Amino acid sequence: MLKTVKFGGSSLANGERFANVKKIIESDPARKAVVVSAPGKRFKKDSKITDLLYLCYAHIKYGVDKEGILNLIKSRYIEIAEELGIDIDLPAIFAEIDENLASGAGEEYLVSRGEYLNARLMASYLGYSFVDSKDCIYINYDDSIDKQRTYAALVNAFAEADKGIVVPGFYGTYPDGNVALMSRGGSDITGAILAAALEADVYENWTDVPGILMADPGIVKDPLPIPHITYAELRELSYMGAKVLHESSVFPVREAGIPVNIRDTANPEHPGTLIAESFDNEGDSPFFITGIAGRKGFSIIDIRLENMARKIGAFREILKIFEKKGIAIEQINSGVDAFSLLISTELLKPYLYQVVSEIQELCDGVRVTESISLLAIVSRRMVFRPGISGLIFGALGREGINIRLIAQGAEELNITIGVADSDFNRTINILYDSFTEKE
Ligand code: ASP
Repeated sequence: MLKTVKFGGSSLANGERFANVKKIIESDPARKAVVVSAPGKRFKKDSKITDLLYLCYAHIKYGVDKEGILNLIKSRYIEIAEELGIDIDLPAIFAEIDENLASGAGEEYLVSRGEYLNARLMASYLGYSFVDSKDCIYINYDDSIDKQRTYAALVNAFAEADKGIVVPGFYGTYPDGNVALMSRGGSDITGAILAAALEADVYENWTDVPGILMADPGIVKDPLPIPHITYAELRELSYMGAKVLHESSVFPVREAGIPVNIRDTANPEHPGTLIAESFDNEGDSPFFITGIAGRKGFSIIDIRLENMARKIGAFREILKIFEKKGIAIEQINSGVDAFSLLISTELLKPYLYQVVSEIQELCDGVRVTESISLLAIVSRRMVFRPGISGLIFGALGREGINIRLIAQGAEELNITIGVADSDFNRTINILYDSFTEKE
């Protein structure tokens, strides 16, 4: 059994949290391949090391003295090492970084030092081997991963280690040998790459929440974590604005058929959320739905066109107006003499008057309603199950919420509804409550 474990920055923000992570790793001998982020915030108003490193580079770029901020960054690592009595020569490592900066190392190099230093600390602390991503994660100039080379290098590094390995997240190396930084939050990708390369049994992604939540905790009070979610459902929820691990960031494990387990470092006994392609035993889930998510800021354009169905090509002409301006259409609903388009207000705004006048030339009437929110109720168990829209209409009808549009995804994985922005929070709460009442 092999588990690849990735720890986020907030789980590694100070000595105490480092010690907790060590306890988690040592409590399961399968946790032999570790990926770490840079230290995150210790308290609400604190700064993440990665942000400070970007700021430090801005000092260099604009010729402002960087020593103050660099020393602040270094002090975070010194504190962790001293608190835990980690045997590591930090001054020597800092000196090397200083030298590289003096000889012109760029932003990607400097910012990657956040993860690099944390991995060096964690490797010494655990007695695992440090494996530099610069020597193992090969990134092409188009930012794709050179899978073959990367996987081979990681397999080799793991085979050479006695106890286990610690790999810094968030960066790799370009073909010319320079540091290649991934997008923000990229340590999730590093963890997925490592899990796929080593063919791990599971990729554990340790963070500061008890899994993916069924709804936004900023809207619903104490939403429950989702025990099981499929990759397809995860895509739906993140597309609809849920701040969850992005499916694309764990693509390497999805491709390799390895499940992802989101876990909470503050509550290691909690099973968290398991993400997989599908689940054998659907009876395990306590509720019918998997989650609810939504986004504000849409506009509905109602277009009247008599006898629409018979006017061949009319539909296409209207859609072309949007296509020419690069405006993506989120949804289309149609009736006999009218249809409506749902569009992001931000995309539409700059062209609104132009679009309306062009539509008017082709149609019998047009009306725009702004401030619409879109909500998705996501569940893989919706397929062939009657009564779901009934439940939604019933619950919202009783509370006097007007549904502006409703649509079911082709794969019956979600039901999307549109309501006024002013009803957004209340709608999410009503739906959450009605779907989480014990069946
Ligand atoms: N430290 C980086 C960031 O803040 C990468 C990561 O945490 O995954 O985005």
